[in-house]
Order: sequence, then C-alpha cells, then structure tokens
Amino acid sequence: MMSRDPREPTLISIVVPVFNEEASVDTLIPRLFGLLETEGLTGEVICVDDGSRDGSWDRLVAWRTRYPALTLVSLSRNFGKEIAIAAGLDIAEGNAVVLMDSDLQHPPEVIPEFLAKWREGFDIVYGVRRNRNSDGVLRRTFTRTFYRLFNKVSNTPITPDAGDFRLMDRKVVEAIRRMRERARFMKGIYSWVGFKNVAVEFDVVERKHGTSSFSPTRLFTLAFDGILSFSTVPLRFAMYAGALIALASIAMGTYYMVRTLIFGIDVPGFASLIVSTLALSGFTMLQLGLMGLYLGRIYDEVKARPLYLVREIIGKPAPESTASARVKDMSDASHSA
Ligand code: UDP
Ligand code: MG
Repeated sequence: MMSRDPREPTLISIVVPVFNEEASVDTLIPRLFGLLETEGLTGEVICVDDGSRDGSWDRLVAWRTRYPALTLVSLSRNFGKEIAIAAGLDIAEGNAVVLMDSDLQHPPEVIPEFLAKWREGFDIVYGVRRNRNSDGVLRRTFTRTFYRLFNKVSNTPITPDAGDFRLMDRKVVEAIRRMRERARFMKGIYSWVGFKNVAVEFDVVERKHGTSSFSPTRLFTLAFDGILSFSTVPLRFAMYAGALIALASIAMGTYYMVRTLIFGIDVPGFASLIVSTLALSGFTMLQLGLMGLYLGRIYDEVKARPLYLVREIIGKPAPESTASARVKDMSDASHSA
C-alpha cells in the first residue's frame, strides 16, 4: 500500500446532513472550522439541509457570512439522511471527504486520526463506536439481530458498529456517486465498493439536543430495505417451500398408492384429491419461486451498478473518465428519463 504524498495539496470536505438540528448548528459550525484551522487544513464544510422544519437553515445561512468555505444545500423536502448524504457527496470537491452527523454525536476531534490513516494510504477510514450505551437496550438488541441476519443472507458483509462517521478518498466518493439506486442502504454501499478499509474507534457522545429521527418503525424499514437491496434470499423462499411441498406430495402419493393396493379404498377419491392438490400447489409455488429468481436478476440489472471499480492501475494511465465523466452521463440520463 502506498502512502499519500504529504506535499500534495489536500482539500478536505466535511459533509454533514442536517435535519431539525437548530440547537446543534451554532456549536457544530465553529467547531468544525476551528478544527480545520488548528490542524492547518484547507477544507470546506458542506451542510445539506434535509427539509428541516425548524430554524436550522436560517442559522446555517447566518454562519456563511463568517465562513465562506461553508457550502449549503437545501433539499426541497425531507428525503432522508441517505439521500442528503448523496447530495453532499455530489458537490464535495475534496481529495478526502469526511461524513458526519450534525447532532454532535460524532466528535470532530477524531477527524485528524481519520486523516492520518488516509495519509498512510487507506481509502476508507470508518469510525467504530466504542460504546453503544447512548442507544436503548431494545435498539441495541434489534441492531445486533439485524447484523447477524444480514450477514447470513447477503454476499456483502457489513461491519457492526460502523456507521456514517467516516472518511473516504476521492475515488471511493466517485464510486459511491455512481450508485444511483433509490433505496440507499449506506452500510451495504460502503462495503460493496470495497477499497482499503481501516477502523478507528471513537466514543459516541450523548445527544444533547432534540431526539433521534430514527424511530423504531423507521429503523425497521431501513433494515428491510437493506436486506432487499443486498440479498435475493427472500425471493428464493417460495422456491424452497414449493420444492418441499412437491416432494411431500410425491411421498404421500406413494404412501396412499401402496396403502390402497394393500388395504383397499376406505374413503373413495380422498387419496387422488389430496395428492393432486398438494402436488399442484407445490408445483405452483416452485414456479413462483423460479419467477422470483428471474425477478431477482432483473432487479439486480435494473439497479445498473457499475460492474467493477478500479482502485489503481499500474503500467498504463487510468482511462480519463473512469468515474466523473460517467457520473455526469448517468445524471444526464436520469434527467431526461
Ligand atoms: N438526518 C437527516 N435526515 C433525516 C434524519 C436525520 O439528514 O431524515 C440527519 C440528522 O440531522 C443527523 C443524522 O442524520 O445529522 C443522524 O440522525 P439522528 O441523530 O436522528 O440518528 P441517530 O444518531 O439516532 O442514528
Ligand atoms: Mg444522532
């Protein structure tokens, strides 16, 4: 792994989704710029207001007069954190992009550690929560069960306790920008793109203002989305069930045939009826499952994720465009669609 040349000019982008955080904005913005200054970093901060209904936007706008390197994006409505992040990544220009929450739960003081790892040559440096105590017992149990289930049914393994607090190299950002899927399960996306990863531990800070926007129902939807986006196992269920029932009907058919041959008929028509019903529903489910398999493939194709992503090319110049030109193509395409 090659470490990055410290003399190369570096721009750090800090991307922050903001949803109803008026109580945190006034602390967060000066803290971020203070950090950039004390670390001697050239940086920009991009706040994406995800349709806040409180005074968050006005406060952000007020801070802009003080810090010109503050870029503000306001989404037309609440699209959800994942899409707010996507919007931020689309305009971030840094060689390294840091993602963090705006509710002060992610301590900005960890960012220099992220940068150090990035300079060593890692492409993704992700924060791992040392303590989950700020979450309730119920949420912790749910999260743990979900990770276990997800890693069983999906080929894209995800790391428990790693969230959106992370630093990504430019090429990772370009890769994620090419994933234009609407159901954006970020943990899966971060893992799917690959690249050189490393974890840095941090302590989650208790939420001081407001409440988490992730209610149990929203978390559940998110978990469901995640499994559907990164696994086709549920589609195969029908097929397994169908195959089982079809097998059972063959076994029962044989059993009744033999019994009738030996003991004669007790209830006329029963054997043929039960066996044909079972066999038919078995085959129907089997067929449904097969349709599911094809549907799963169509689903994968429709998502149109890039086939592969190049981390580095040695011995030939990287094709001009690998990422950014295509991102442009894709967004043009989605405009005209
Ligand atoms: N957020 C957002 N859009 C939403 C919900 C949340 O941009 O619809 C932002 C929120 O402002 C915060 C981050 O996402 O910066 C994490 O949200 P929250 O603290 O509610 O989630 P938790 O920390 O409980 O997972
Ligand atoms: Mg939070």
